[in-house]
Amino acid sequence: MAKKTVKDIDIKGKKVLVRVDFNVPLKDGKISDENRIIQALPTIKYILAQGGKAIIFSHLGRIKEAADLKSKSLSVVANRLSELLEQDVVFVPETRGKALEDAIDTLKNGEILMFENTRFEDLEGKKESKNDPELGKYWASLGDVLVIDAFGTAHRSHASNVGISNNIGTTVAGFLLEKEINFIGGTLENPQRPFVAILGGAKVSDKIEVIKNLLKIADRVLIGGGMAYTFFKAQGYEIGKSLLEEDKIDLAKELLALADGKIILGDDVITAKTFDPESEKNVRSVEDIPSDEMGMDIGPRTIARFEKEIKAAKTVVWNGPLGVFEFPRFAEGTRSVAEALVEIKDQATTIIGGGDSAAAVIQFGLADGFTHISTGGGASLEYLEGKILPGVACVDDK
Ligand code: ADP
Ligand code: MG
Repeated sequence: MAKKTVKDIDIKGKKVLVRVDFNVPLKDGKISDENRIIQALPTIKYILAQGGKAIIFSHLGRIKEAADLKSKSLSVVANRLSELLEQDVVFVPETRGKALEDAIDTLKNGEILMFENTRFEDLEGKKESKNDPELGKYWASLGDVLVIDAFGTAHRSHASNVGISNNIGTTVAGFLLEKEINFIGGTLENPQRPFVAILGGAKVSDKIEVIKNLLKIADRVLIGGGMAYTFFKAQGYEIGKSLLEEDKIDLAKELLALADGKIILGDDVITAKTFDPESEKNVRSVEDIPSDEMGMDIGPRTIARFEKEIKAAKTVVWNGPLGVFEFPRFAEGTRSVAEALVEIKDQATTIIGGGDSAAAVIQFGLADGFTHISTGGGASLEYLEGKILPGVACVDDK
């Protein structure tokens, strides 16, 4: 379903509420990764250039006790945003009240204000995270239209997205949300074929719904990572000390039967005796995994098999590293697959969803080599599961 974006509405002179995801990591009070701020700039700049009055807000971390109010203030983010925009950003250290309302009233066209961490409203009664109806209504009263550009929280129904949307006439997507909707949503709805899904990560149990959904849509489902071993076990192989979810073996059998040959697990793995970055690595066929070794990565034959499938693909969706990529020695499978995707960039749509998978390709320095890297870990997972995301559903249809 096509959604309205900032380009579909009149912005000049409007008080534009903009829900962004500025939930950036902080180290010693400093922003250690500002990617989320950078990603939101196109939408903010567009609103300002159109003569809108931008009222920006976001959550930052979780607020459990009064001490969090100090360490989780968005003021440092407002400062950085001001530098990046080369423009004043009025920061109001409140989430409601007269000071905020007055500051909004004095905003001129093309000016920007940011208010405090929306989760400060969680301190008493989780008003933001439980979508307290009064809070959504109040925030809606501060503006004329709502722009949602926070994909990272799109799988949650909070006061700052769904709550406001329920109480305001117009909700549209910003450019970042639009990208996520087009690339993930659009691809799942209408993929160019062959469509290859690559799934990895630690646990089958985290990804059951993703596997099921992608089995319905994709032509091939390549499985690696820790979760592959429960599948190997289901096929009757001994897997030594590899990750195993005993209670998911029957499910793995069911999925393999359901897949009717679509699932490709490969036939060799890299093992180690201990879970350690310095541990010696061995190449083993799946039928020869010694009882005192554990699978840490996909093997060379499996890499070649996966590369072959990738090279033929017109669409690839990848979620979950194929090995313990945090240890360089066991990152080869994940890196090879990333490089194969970079190679087909001009002929295929390549999408990466999942927090650790995104971290892996960024760590390899390959971030520019894909059609799209999703900015939402949990949200992209739920999108791949085929779920309706409340923070997307509440955006007006075209
Ligand atoms: P994502 O965040 O991309 O969805 P997950 O959170 O599901 O990915 O899984 C990522 C984790 O899986 C990584 O920390 C990685 O080390 C781990 N992993 C991958 N392969 C294995 C393996 N063979 N054994 C143990 N852990 C693994
Ligand atoms: Mg993860």
